[in-house]
Amino acid sequence: MSQSIPLQTPKGENVLEPRRFQVFTTRNMDQIPGIQRMSEDARFAMKVVANVLPFRVNEYVLNELINWEQAPDDPIYQLTIPQQGMLAPEHFNRMADVLRRDADRAEIQRVAWEIRNELNPHPAGQMDLNVPEFEGEKVEGMQHKYRETVLFFPSQGQVCHSYCTFCFRWAQFVGDKELRFASNEADRLIDYLRSHTEVSDLLFTGGDPMVMKTKNLAQYMEPLLEADLDHVQTVRIGTKALTFWPQRFVSDKDADDLLRLLERLVESGKHVALMAHYNHPQELSTDVAREAIRRIRDTGAQIRSQGPLLNHINKDADAWARMWREQVRLGIIPYYMFVERDTGARRYFEVPLAQAWEVYRGAMQQVSGLGRTARGPSMSADPGKVEIQGVTEIHGEKVFVLRFIQGRNPDWVQRPFFAKYDPEATWLNHLKPAFGEEKFFWEDDYQRIVAEKTGG
Ligand SMILES: *Cc1c(COP(=O)(O)O)cnc(C)c1O
Repeated sequence: MSQSIPLQTPKGENVLEPRRFQVFTTRNMDQIPGIQRMSEDARFAMKVVANVLPFRVNEYVLNELINWEQAPDDPIYQLTIPQQGMLAPEHFNRMADVLRRDADRAEIQRVAWEIRNELNPHPAGQMDLNVPEFEGEKVEGMQHKYRETVLFFPSQGQVCHSYCTFCFRWAQFVGDKELRFASNEADRLIDYLRSHTEVSDLLFTGGDPMVMKTKNLAQYMEPLLEADLDHVQTVRIGTKALTFWPQRFVSDKDADDLLRLLERLVESGKHVALMAHYNHPQELSTDVAREAIRRIRDTGAQIRSQGPLLNHINKDADAWARMWREQVRLGIIPYYMFVERDTGARRYFEVPLAQAWEVYRGAMQQVSGLGRTARGPSMSADPGKVEIQGVTEIHGEKVFVLRFIQGRNPDWVQRPFFAKYDPEATWLNHLKPAFGEEKFFWEDDYQRIVAEKTGG
């Protein structure tokens, strides 16, 4: 098949040859050739931002995904390289002052944390509302928000091959242990699942679980093959490795072992789904990225794609349409378009809900039914995943039509509801009920759930 054609990198190397993983962070960002060519002011601005928000990018992304001729407008450049606008001017200036004064590390850290704490580091009740209890104790490294699906954060998977500038889990990458949901207790996970037969889906997430060695992943996955976990039908793995390090599935030393592990899960009767994070068609452009997709599909695992709509990266219906068409061609199933969350660098990336819907609609109109499996734009908010279904007028009032795709109470799912149209709203908490109503239908119920969980 496609393997009879030698796959080559732009430098003429065979993509099947092992490649060294080389990464740049805040400490050595000056050594990135593309950045060395920039003005001193631009480099200083990057450094300021990279001392507040996480920064990490690898050599494959720099050399093969970013089109430096288009920088700073290139989407992959925006996706990985810090920009001044990612911080509010007062935050930017506060950090710039400290760096200009050559303050010591302790002071830089103190100021960094002051700023970070003003950037809503734990959105959507992740700390207080989603962590489940088992035998009277909170289970570290897990979230269980929606009945069917448990999220698990394996401790060795809490970094990524590169960091996205807009990441909503950014806070755990700047070093606060409390913000890490990590768990290395496979046993606790398995006990929890065994006693929760309502759970059909287990989602490994991070960070990126695909940074883990195959033997570490196997430690979590092999127990799932036991008969008493038959109710866990689906194993999902959230990952951006297909973009940031497709070599994980192609040329890394344990790439073949990883593929065999996925194959064994499939053969045991599980549905295995890679929830691949994609933001732009450019991510699908390299031979190694395509080879990785082909190999994963060969194991019987499915690949579904999801990612947020982002100003400066993909606020463009044509880009989404091209991405979804290309994904369908490669055998990937488009799944979600998200709204950028209310945390971190959101000021730089956010898109008003009304515009988000226009982009979604504009993209949908350009793809066949096989690309229209992507739902959205969807906000992962405290009460649930809320989709903007559209903007319309009812009896002279302009409204947003909304629905829950997922809810803390499953009974809310698929019930349409209405909010007053607001061209500037970027998140659920900016919306007011339409038609003069005081509350949305789910609000009292939501308050009750919160009170129960927080013991108040
Ligand atoms: C999105 C999400 C899920 C999965 O929801 P699906 O609609 O089944 O993909 C599970 N848990 C949390 C916390 C989520 O945000």
